Amino acid sequence: MPAIEGWFTIDDEPVLLGNRCTSCRTVYFPKASFFCRNPDCDGEEFEEARLSRRGKIWSYTDAQYQPPSPFIAPPGDYQPFAHAAVELAEEQMVILGQVASGFGVADLEVGQEVELIVEELYSDDEHDYLVYKWKPAGAERDGVRA
Ligand SMILES: [Zn+2]
Repeated sequence: MPAIEGWFTIDDEPVLLGNRCTSCRTVYFPKASFFCRNPDCDGEEFEEARLSRRGKIWSYTDAQYQPPSPFIAPPGDYQPFAHAAVELAEEQMVILGQVASGFGVADLEVGQEVELIVEELYSDDEHDYLVYKWKPAGAERDGVRA
């Protein structure tokens, strides 16, 4: 199950769930509520939007310290990871996410195509808690659950 309810689905393959203003068609992730944040729009109605599963790296960085909330830290020692801001062409938006484990900044470059995967953040007796991550498109790695 997703560690944060409602941010993505994994029916067949992982897909981020945003929503789209029915007036101006602007897409939001995480979902907008109550009113559209487009200053030129007074829309208040939204429909679910399934975001593109592939995008291009717009920027990336190393997270050498634990990010603030809503980042959910797995139990145990903090493990540095890379995260990437990924531009989705169709939605014209940038989605920040962790980079798949096993990949570091040395594996990334601006403009590189990445795809959405989910990985286990932690598990308890009842559930595996999943987070979405960006993985270099086409790259192979052991342990990917996508
Ligand atoms: Zn709008």
